[in-house]
Amino acid sequence: MRFEISKVLDAIEGRVSTDPSLARAVVDLAEVIRWQDLDGGRPASLLRLGMVIDALSRQMEEDSVPVYAIVHRALLSDADLTSNERMVVRRWADDGLVEVLDHPGDRMLEVADLLGLPVLTRLRFDGLGGRWPWLGQAGRVLAPVPGAGGPVFIAHVGGGQTPATGSRSPVGAKLLARQWRCPEPGCALFGGGGGGGAFADLARVDRAPAGQPPPTLRNGVPTCPRHGTRLGDAGPRPRTAVLAVRIGGLVRQRFALTENQPVAIGRAPEATGGIVLGQWLNDEARRWISRNHVRLELRVGEVVVTDTSTNGSGVRPGGSMAEPDRIALAPQQSRVLGEGDLVELYPGVQVGRADEMASDAKFSPTSVMAEAPTMAMRLPRP
Ligand SMILES: [Zn+2]
Repeated sequence: MRFEISKVLDAIEGRVSTDPSLARAVVDLAEVIRWQDLDGGRPASLLRLGMVIDALSRQMEEDSVPVYAIVHRALLSDADLTSNERMVVRRWADDGLVEVLDHPGDRMLEVADLLGLPVLTRLRFDGLGGRWPWLGQAGRVLAPVPGAGGPVFIAHVGGGQTPATGSRSPVGAKLLARQWRCPEPGCALFGGGGGGGAFADLARVDRAPAGQPPPTLRNGVPTCPRHGTRLGDAGPRPRTAVLAVRIGGLVRQRFALTENQPVAIGRAPEATGGIVLGQWLNDEARRWISRNHVRLELRVGEVVVTDTSTNGSGVRPGGSMAEPDRIALAPQQSRVLGEGDLVELYPGVQVGRADEMASDAKFSPTSVMAEAPTMAMRLPRP
């Protein structure tokens, strides 16, 4: 049984992120794990996070939708979780995938405000509308409750069942234009620890500055939410574009493209940060698409595609699916993507800017809980 649970937790791990470009909703993990009515199981279970992530994926009609999880530090030693679950949450904390706080306070709302994200919670936040006016907007605060086939969302205020993303608040936009340094050595959120030389923290790969979470504001001062220390300004944050892969009409994955960090896309690119398509391809597409099929780069704000394949690819100008419009891209050829342009690796396998792309086929998300049925069947009988 342990094996299957580990696989589910690994799948969930791929859907927790404090990256401002990729997170799609904010949750308080201490709250989510105790929604016992979702499955009628143990008092606390980390698997409920997976159920909520799946529900978010269904509602947004996109695969691989990550959540920004706030974690109360007490959770790392919560006896209602299994030792395996506690270990997993600690690993997420060490890797900066979640934000661990001594006193979460209203950090969940602050993150939602700074990033313009919906909040998945059963709290009502009565009386807080003055401070956070967006609380009254449709789809910004949704409560996951039991439904047929998994959790569904209901609105306490503002109506709507579909999570709505707003824009970053002006303060959020300002904070996210800079990169920040925490003076605390080994800080998982604002990495590196302010000097100490290249070998001071060999065990940890420095967090990519483009993916840093938003600082918290204390009396208007950018502060590390984990350590309560004043953050140093480490210069402008590298520019980022958010792109998406759509296969067979379904958005399967979003990814951030940062200046000076090319991203390889293909059947199975070996470079770190590469986008692996193999899992979603049929046999013919898998034969056609190279391990490294295209490389994307962000250069002075422009997205440049370079074909690195054996069979070539194409560009659909403005997203046009008319065959005469398709511009062939021979191996090693490059092209700047214009507005609405899609890169086509194979018919039905496309990459483009995330905000210009939506799922346009009937959606069947890949569940992070894929292993769960096996798991349930193997549970010991009472
Ligand atoms: Zn810190």
